[in-house]
Parts: sequence; structure tokens; C-alpha cells
Amino acid sequence: MPEIPEIRAHAERLETLAAGEVLKRFEPLSFTALKTASPQPSEAAGWPLRSVGQRAKFLLLRFAPPGGDAGAGAVDDESSQRTHGTADDGRASVGVSMAGGDEPGAEPTGNGLTFVVHLMQGGRLRVLEAGAKRPRRPRDGLARFEFESGLGLLLTEPGTQKRAGVWVLAGDPIADGAVAGRAPESADTASTAAAHPLAGLGPEATEVDAAAMAELMAAHPGRLHNFLRDQRVISGLGRRLANEICHRAKLSPFAPTGRMDAEGVEAVVAAIGAVVDDSLAAERQLAQMSRSAERPSAVHSRTGEQCPVCGDVVRAVEYRDYSVNYCAGCQTSGRVLADNTTSKFLR
Ligand SMILES: [Zn+2]
Repeated sequence: MPEIPEIRAHAERLETLAAGEVLKRFEPLSFTALKTASPQPSEAAGWPLRSVGQRAKFLLLRFAPPGGDAGAGAVDDESSQRTHGTADDGRASVGVSMAGGDEPGAEPTGNGLTFVVHLMQGGRLRVLEAGAKRPRRPRDGLARFEFESGLGLLLTEPGTQKRAGVWVLAGDPIADGAVAGRAPESADTASTAAAHPLAGLGPEATEVDAAAMAELMAAHPGRLHNFLRDQRVISGLGRRLANEICHRAKLSPFAPTGRMDAEGVEAVVAAIGAVVDDSLAAERQLAQMSRSAERPSAVHSRTGEQCPVCGDVVRAVEYRDYSVNYCAGCQTSGRVLADNTTSKFLR
């Protein structure tokens, strides 16, 4: 599944390509594609695409009415002159800014709609050039954005299990602070999360400093690899990056987070930054999103190969649906891991 680096680079490419394009219509091509009933996507017709951002494994396409500023509001309102996240001019840097929403009294950005796109495993948001054919039932097509210029974006997902989709949210969920990674606070959080895929997310993995990481680990005791992949605890990482982060941090994927010392916490934070940066740099070289086999890895999907750091063999703990890869030489002082409950034992 695409993780932070793939989604972030994809958001950058899409923003470069399509920011400022005026939406003609949004067409669901499959009845499972649109996950929300209200607001209607048609409300965004005639509005320019202000920005394309990334939060965890989601793309955020933000539309706002022409003329008005997407976030700053009336100029005579002092409180509204604050910059709200990425929405101030519609071309601000892609990514996650949590400024604004954390300030007491910060006004919701109110106007505009955000289309939250989840690609799941194999989904893609493909560019349709102006003039390119628009079949009524494009292969693997789930939904389509059509712009006034003729440009289009087609959400595709191969296979029969269609799980990718689009949620349409009022306002800007990032700038409004609704998804700033805070712990659930109110009783309606469960219902909010059901309609709102961003609401239940933990903080963006790349935004967590050592102090916050130590708190998260203490609050969520378990195996490090599981901790890193739990989107409600810390978001944006999947199996590949979890494998790579544990390896980079020289920690066992089974290291207990509840007993992580300060050095271990620091190592995990540094490894997240380094691994995401490396993948992002690689991903930015590409014209479109990488396939999983193309993504850089030292241990992920490299069972039986040599560890590039120490030369030991890369091992795997096999689960029914996936493997955890690690290097015993780098990560476990040579100890071979077995999961005595759910895995079969390899090597
Ligand atoms: Zn090694």
C-alpha cells in the first residue's frame, strides 16, 4: 500500500499539474466510490482546485469558490488574517500543516470542499489529458474529476475488491483542526470516524517528536512493528516502512514499546525521518507513483538476501497475510525471531 512518501509525492505532482483547474464535475463511476452522502460533490462545480495535500495515506483535493480566499476570510476580520494551513493561496506547499487549528478561536475555514481520496492497495489517481478518450466505463474506474480545461483525473483500482474511495468533506479538515492528530475527545467520535476517515487517525508519523513518541509508546504497549502500523496511534506508515524503520533504528520488530528506553525512542523518531526522506526523494524522481517492488528497501520483501548494512541474511516472520522482515545481525543481536502464536517458523 502506498505510504506517506508515495502519497506525498503524488500530491505534489497532482498539485503542480492541476492546481487552479476549475472543476466541471465529479463523476462516481461505481456505486461504492463515493463514501459520503453530504455535502454533494456537485457543490464544487465551478470552483478551482486550490491545493492537493496528503494526510497519512490519504490525498486531499481542496476546492474553494473563486474570488474569495480559501482560508483567510474578510480582511477586516483580524482573527481571520491568520494563515490557515495550506489553504492561504491554494498553491502553498503540499503536506500537512497543523497550524491554525491548534489556536483557540481559530475560525474554521468554512467555505470550500475537500475531496479525501484513499487509494487502498492498488488504487491510482491517473491523469487524463485534455482530448483523451473518456469511456463511460473506463477499465478499473471508480470515479472521475473533470475540469473545464479538458483535463481529468481518474480514480482506478484494479481487481474485484473495490475498496478505494472518495469522501467529500465541508471546509478544509486540516486547517480546521479536525484531524490534527489529537486523541478522540468526545462521545461522538465513533460516529464521526465512520463518516470521516481522517477523524480517527493518530498524528502524522513525520510530525511526532521524541517526547510525543515516548508518550505514545507508553500509552500503547505492544510490539514496535504493530505500533508503527496502527493508524489510530501513529498514521501514514505501512508494512514496508515499518520493516525499514525497525531495521534503520536497529530495533527488533518485536521490541516492546511499553518498555522502550529514551535511546530507543530517539532511534525510532530518527529512523522514521530518514526512511521517509529516502523514499520521498526516490519517489520524487518518478513521473508517476511507483509500484511496490520499485520502492527502496533494505529488508522489506528481501527474505534470503544479504542485509546491506551487516551482510547477514534478511529473515522473515510469516503471518497469514504478510511477512515481517528483519536482520538478526542488525536488530536482534543475532537472535532469530519466532512468533509462537500466529506464525510458522522460518529458518
Ligand atoms: Zn544487518
